[in-house]
Amino acid sequence: MKDRRAASEYRQKRHSCADKVDRVEDLDLDAISREDLIWQHGTGVSVSHGTGRAKTYTYRSGVQTKAGNLELSVWTAAARYVVKRDGLEAEAGHLREFFTQHGYRIGRTSGAREREVLCCCISGLYQNPQWVGFVPYNQRYHPEALKKAHLVRMISVCCQTPGFVTEEQIAGSCDGKVACPVCGCFSNYKRLS
Ligand SMILES: [Zn+2]
Repeated sequence: MKDRRAASEYRQKRHSCADKVDRVEDLDLDAISREDLIWQHGTGVSVSHGTGRAKTYTYRSGVQTKAGNLELSVWTAAARYVVKRDGLEAEAGHLREFFTQHGYRIGRTSGAREREVLCCCISGLYQNPQWVGFVPYNQRYHPEALKKAHLVRMISVCCQTPGFVTEEQIAGSCDGKVACPVCGCFSNYKRLS
């Protein structure tokens, strides 16, 4: 019984339109935090317009966040605003440059690539020591951040060149492999420190 009620509540929640935001004007952009805009999951629904034979359908792509279910262009506009407001435009530029130079596949269209950069910027990905790009990214753009990091000197089996990963990456690995600092492949390694 309890399970059935939970499932029904879940369905209602999923189909609830209450938190849909389709216009950027409906968001209080000055009050919104970066955390409010972090992606929980993407959503997609077809929306009908008109009646009878004149009925047409469009597809609404949305993203679930703490601030509600934001239509994709609304999310993008809000994220751009917050990145600018919080002085993170240079960081977004660094992320874009890093992703391009390191061959990260972050989307097929320029819109998808921009969303990925904004997403990583507002979520503070570059400050997460579990991120595989943490060491090379911060070596280049925030060397001071590495002074406080838990770095481990290691040598990977694939490239046989000493480099650094973080303790957090080692702890987060379930198969004993870590991303090689040279080629980026997940590889076995030997600790040197
Ligand atoms: Zn390698």
